[in-house]
Amino acid sequence: MKKKGNNMNGYILIINGKCLSMVDEIMYDWIAVKDDTIYDLGYGEDYKRYAAQAVKIIDARGATVLPGFIDSHFHVVQAAINLKSLDLSQAKSYSDIGRLISKTRDSSPRTPIRGIRLDEQQLKENKLPTRMILDKYCNDAPVFINSVEYQKSVLNTYAMLYYKIPFTLEGIDFDENQMPTGIITHHANAILRENVLRNIPNERRMDAVESLIKNIIKKGITTVNAMEGGRLYSDKDAEFIYENFDQFQIDIALFYQTMDINKVKEMNLGRIGGSFYIDGTFGARTAALSFDYADCPGSKGGLNFTQEELNEFVLECYLNKMQLALYTIGDRAIEQAITAHEYAIEKTGISGLRHRLEHVELPNGSQIKRAKKLGLIFSMTPTYEYLWGGPDKLNGNRLGEHYKDTSPLHEIISEGVIICGGSDCDVTQADPILGIYSAVNHPVEKHRINVYEAIKMFTVNGAYAIFEEDKKGTLETEKLADIVILDQDILHIGKNKIKDIQVVTTIKSGEIIFNLLK
Ligand SMILES: [Zn+2]
Repeated sequence: MKKKGNNMNGYILIINGKCLSMVDEIMYDWIAVKDDTIYDLGYGEDYKRYAAQAVKIIDARGATVLPGFIDSHFHVVQAAINLKSLDLSQAKSYSDIGRLISKTRDSSPRTPIRGIRLDEQQLKENKLPTRMILDKYCNDAPVFINSVEYQKSVLNTYAMLYYKIPFTLEGIDFDENQMPTGIITHHANAILRENVLRNIPNERRMDAVESLIKNIIKKGITTVNAMEGGRLYSDKDAEFIYENFDQFQIDIALFYQTMDINKVKEMNLGRIGGSFYIDGTFGARTAALSFDYADCPGSKGGLNFTQEELNEFVLECYLNKMQLALYTIGDRAIEQAITAHEYAIEKTGISGLRHRLEHVELPNGSQIKRAKKLGLIFSMTPTYEYLWGGPDKLNGNRLGEHYKDTSPLHEIISEGVIICGGSDCDVTQADPILGIYSAVNHPVEKHRINVYEAIKMFTVNGAYAIFEEDKKGTLETEKLADIVILDQDILHIGKNKIKDIQVVTTIKSGEIIFNLLK
């Protein structure tokens, strides 16, 4: 761990706080930070013995003070680059797209334009524009637009030439004169995306990631688990994070989404996977269910591997003592992943690697019990419930009555399975407070958990899930001084008001990196 801290000559004192240590619900009134670590904690006026040597005293005004938040599932480079891309989610017509393109061109003419989140269902024309339409808005720089689920792209003529798309690939759309329309799907889209992402220079990655981090420290995040590389992303993203670990203001734990165990071993990461897709999403009806989609009878989604293929890969990870994170959404995918773990543990007897399942939206009771026995960690995304949970939103539409079974947080915790929390940014916004709110206010009442348990997901459990509990996740002496101050008492404010809580101070390794307090 790098030494940080801008308090080399004395203490940073946080006083008048409700400092929730996250150890046995013990609470302190004040914290003294020295260099990059927590030096002391205590009650009442006792802090005064450090006051003479304090370089900074922060009055928390009776609000909650917590360990720095750990976001356990985050697509760092993707989210960062998207932040610098043209957001077309509000476009309702071709002329809206044109207006938004013109606006970007005014600020930086001639640079390639990358549009994201275009939803063709939302367009009044009800289909994607062609390159000829895009050419009307821009014909002297590449325009590359992604659909909302990244399954389709559309390019202007300049971009078709610029990105050198081979017209022979499957997925190039042609008009009646056998001219390409600029719309690209399937294999060609995957190749194109990879080309475009690979060609992003690392300076742009750095610039984008730095801007992203500036935003997320305002949400109290001091560590993220970065899910990088592999299908739909670019291995260059993973390599970029790996090469620049110590350049960032916060800690980034890299999850390399690859099946290349040797490569990850050489990098000494100790872990592999992340959004390593066993199945897909409810949205695209590709998550693997044991029942039919309510809005598409006959369809149960699909698995990306056979049981034998997955067994072999999981076994390899065990034999190489590699922590593995597998992406599972539907109960059939969860079943396959758990079966593969049972197979590997049976073969090797190796435990304690803290393997993870990412998202785990539809586990059934027996799967939860088996996961507990295997020591699996569930890395979950409670904000999904806030956005899509309940009978009237996506989960209800896709799953029918089974919307009642998604993210059963209470049952999972009662069975003793550890849950760490993530945002899946930028699928949902990076905001642990919103994650906590979503877990506490789950649309299905029996799945709700209490505020303390929800905070654990983003602190102590997050640290455990990356083997960092010896230095992070709690407020204790000699732990890293990763600290967040809120503007409210989170344990006593109404449950429905939690999402309005603001982070006012973020301290990372003893350095105040964000502060609104005097
Ligand atoms: Zn993800």
